[in-house]
Amino acid sequence: MNCSKCNEKAIYSNCGMLLCKNHFLSYFEAKVIRTINRYGLIKKNDIVCVATSGGKDSLAVLFMTMVYCRRNKIDFFALAIDEGISGYRDATLTDLRKFCGDNGINLHVVQIKETMGVTLDEMKESAIKEFGKKPCTVCGILRRSFLNKNARKLGATKLVTGHNLDDESQSFMMNTLLGNMRHNAAMGPITGLSENSMFVPRVKPLYFVSEKETRLFALLKGFDVNFAECPNIGMSFRAVVRDALNEIEAKLPGAKNSIVNSFLEILPELKEKYKGKQFMICERCGEPCAGKICNACTLEEQLGVKRQQISLFSCGHGDADEAIKLPSKIF
Ligand code: SF4
Ligand SMILES: [Zn+2]
Ligand SMILES: [Zn+2]
Repeated sequence: MNCSKCNEKAIYSNCGMLLCKNHFLSYFEAKVIRTINRYGLIKKNDIVCVATSGGKDSLAVLFMTMVYCRRNKIDFFALAIDEGISGYRDATLTDLRKFCGDNGINLHVVQIKETMGVTLDEMKESAIKEFGKKPCTVCGILRRSFLNKNARKLGATKLVTGHNLDDESQSFMMNTLLGNMRHNAAMGPITGLSENSMFVPRVKPLYFVSEKETRLFALLKGFDVNFAECPNIGMSFRAVVRDALNEIEAKLPGAKNSIVNSFLEILPELKEKYKGKQFMICERCGEPCAGKICNACTLEEQLGVKRQQISLFSCGHGDADEAIKLPSKIF
């Protein structure tokens, strides 16, 4: 079958639209740029930090942010958190270093082990056995905290993430199934309920592109990318919701799109309802959070990880008041 726009062979089909390689790439890029402009995700005076891991979503969003920022003369850089997931993160970081080197992108890598003294792999057995916490819960809390803290310290005014349509439909369903509408209220193309100088707003240029489209984009662009999944994903609640939504999408094409669009319809009301809840400052680490103590500090306490005064940054820009954490027990 041929492309709906030219006579080339179609390599992509969606709801009756057939596209060849070149028209698919233009379609993908236009959709992402439209999302950035429509929601004001990146503005002229922003300093943009792209949260990246070297996986396909993050290389796709890094590439598109690079195109947008260079075209509009906006400063940007990449930031990766190395959780310490052996056999997986090391491979994606190798791809990422190569990508950034080839494209002249400034990359900062922060290792959880350098700050906390333990890797996610080392924490996870204790987390599961003693506290019933899944690796993704631990990883998610730490990544969010590390990304915000490091992006802010590096001067970023926006934190770009690679969340796509699949991720967003999953997150909405997960929060809904858990009865957590306040978390839904903080979602959307720009995250957060209220502004706080300690919190770098997270923005999502891939918001309306699917996992499949992102994967195809990465493949057609020839990104040197490891398509392996994190070994921990199977243990997560997200995997259950992801598989259920994939099944629904197979029977009802466009279902994920409908979920995200329905969510966006109710988002203004949700934001209005929950906007009174302001950020608090964590009593232990000074990071913005919803309660007295942030999730990262609560987790740290539960896992028995103690502070030691060493510089936070692996890139040498650490502040004396930043603390690196070492374990009080062996995991
Ligand atoms: S799948 Fe879970 S453990 Fe792996 S990187 Fe994602 S959140 Fe972290
Ligand atoms: Zn074409
Ligand atoms: Zn804290």
